[in-house]
Amino acid sequence: MRSITKIELQYAHRFYKFQGEAQYLHGHTGVLTIEVEDSIEAGVNMVFPCNEIQKVAWNVLKNFDHALILRQDDPLLPAILAVYEKQGIKDGAPSNKMKGEAFRTELATAYPEARLVVTKETMTVEGMIKIVYELLKDKLNIAKLTFTSGVNAATQEYTPTRTVDRCPLCGVALVDGVCPKCGYKKH
Ligand SMILES: [Zn+2]
Ligand SMILES: [Zn+2]
Repeated sequence: MRSITKIELQYAHRFYKFQGEAQYLHGHTGVLTIEVEDSIEAGVNMVFPCNEIQKVAWNVLKNFDHALILRQDDPLLPAILAVYEKQGIKDGAPSNKMKGEAFRTELATAYPEARLVVTKETMTVEGMIKIVYELLKDKLNIAKLTFTSGVNAATQEYTPTRTVDRCPLCGVALVDGVCPKCGYKKH
């Protein structure tokens, strides 16, 4: 069975060197749908609580929200960083509070202080799915990711190969046999 949740991300990007309007800087509200597959945890009669999926995903993905996403070879990148630097916001600002945990994968690097994500490939909806899977595959049993942005949408299915031990009282993943939320111990 699957538990399914949605996350909204507002971001600016462009398709550098793409022959179309999208080569100009513009913004979107993107919607990511995450489908997590596992057995049903009998104690709570759920695969995984959807708000917990959101919490785990949002921790990392909030780096993409109200953020600028640029490809590593885009000349806008040094130009914008120079403006941020001059304005004194490149390394953070008191109003920049909603920062995700910094990450660096093969496909993307997050700079939470500057609300910037630098990508290896163009951040199309397909590209975003590849980036998100890299970031979340070890944290969640992902069976399917769907990302929509304007009229664009892409989806990819995966085959989860493990099962996660979950708390029979609140459904969250146990850490070394202990529930991080309610303290339940598996014996
Ligand atoms: Zn776009
Ligand atoms: Zn618990």
